[in-house]
Amino acid sequence: MLLRNSCSLVAAMLIVALACLPSCKEERHFHDYFDQSQLDVIAQIGTAKSKLADHHLDYDTTWVDRFGYHHIPVDTLPGDYRDIFDDFNDVQIPFARKNGIEPIKNLHDAYRLKQPLVKIATCEAYYLDSLTHSMPYLVPKAAKLLEEIGCAFADSVKARGGSAYRIVVTSCTRSNFTVGKLLKVNWNASPNSCHMYGTTFDLSWTHYEPYNNDYYINREDLKNVLAHVLLHFKQQNRCTVLHEQGQCCFHITVK
Ligand SMILES: [Zn+2]
Repeated sequence: MLLRNSCSLVAAMLIVALACLPSCKEERHFHDYFDQSQLDVIAQIGTAKSKLADHHLDYDTTWVDRFGYHHIPVDTLPGDYRDIFDDFNDVQIPFARKNGIEPIKNLHDAYRLKQPLVKIATCEAYYLDSLTHSMPYLVPKAAKLLEEIGCAFADSVKARGGSAYRIVVTSCTRSNFTVGKLLKVNWNASPNSCHMYGTTFDLSWTHYEPYNNDYYINREDLKNVLAHVLLHFKQQNRCTVLHEQGQCCFHITVK
């Protein structure tokens, strides 16, 4: 009887915990990332969040799980991120055309840009991933937006008790050739991709760059912080945002 009651209690806790994960549609990602023993820990995390939610509070301190990952106080945005950040290409492309360059199809195009592109590089605000199918250039307005998003993210992580962290840029401006090498690349992007206009960049929602390699923050917490930041900029009418499932990134175009 005692064993049966214990099992019932554990099952109830797991149900509560899983209900507290960001959304049922995102459970797939948790299961992709973690094995069963790790999922047990996540269940405990969910229970802790549940208790605090009862008091209408974030947990207000950082804590460390048994795998050494730091957790910071941040809520998941209510709803599915695919619904919150659902600016598909038809929404984003008018802003790309309005704010961007003419798509670069050849070297002559690169010299006849109607506005300059600025080179972006890893800095305090963001970490530039090794780009394989795009070039590290953006129109000034998009570069400024990227920097502001990166600073807001870093500030928000620190304000919640975390250490210095940066967002990771995984894609910028795409073209038929690579500047300096005239190297044609086989990219699969649509001819109508916003990435052709220098207005658009991708931020990973699975990878973040710590300054301190001895201090790692739980990735879901970091994703939630980034989601809060992006929602703020979206509500300020600064950008459009798409939560891309396949590329595991936020696809962002400056408005
Ligand atoms: Zn993209």
